Amino acid sequence: MNLSEKEILKIFQDTGALLNGHFLLTSGRHSSVYFQCAKVLQYPGYTEKICFLIAEHFRNTSIDTVISPAIGGIIVGQEVARQLNKKSIFAEREDKKLSLRRGFTLEKGERVLVCEDVVTTGGSVFEVIDIVKESGAEVAGVGFIVDRSNGKVNFNYSQYSTISLNAVSFTPDVCELCKKGIELVKPGSRKVKV
Ligand SMILES: [Zn+2]
Repeated sequence: MNLSEKEILKIFQDTGALLNGHFLLTSGRHSSVYFQCAKVLQYPGYTEKICFLIAEHFRNTSIDTVISPAIGGIIVGQEVARQLNKKSIFAEREDKKLSLRRGFTLEKGERVLVCEDVVTTGGSVFEVIDIVKESGAEVAGVGFIVDRSNGKVNFNYSQYSTISLNAVSFTPDVCELCKKGIELVKPGSRKVKV
């Protein structure tokens, strides 16, 4: 009973994770679409259904442990690990660098699945892959909910996303929405006027 991409999109829209409008992104660019995965992950039932796709994809892969980058990835990693009945750990930022804390360790040869909520540039996932390799453990694959890289990110391991949402953004000087005078919104905070 796997969710289709259409059903996943409906969940994104129903939970307010996928918004249409005129948004200021953290990069400073403007977009007509904004995606906030946390809005989906606040519902454990939806998280379970969507993470099932990732768990199913890697069910026949040899995995000892699931690892994710904090904060967004933790919920995904935890749920995938629960469904695969594996251990779940996470890496978190300390002095801007992701590292294992709280006594989390990886052993030499341990097979590790990397999970994340949204991949745009893949920076956090690449950092977690380095942590796994530096510890002598092996990357078994990379699973994430949304690919926002426009198909550009390749982790060089078996990778799977439940859906691709192409990100289209503009510099403010060529933004059509600005020209139309539509109010600019900074997602997750107060409305901004520029
Ligand atoms: Zn604009």
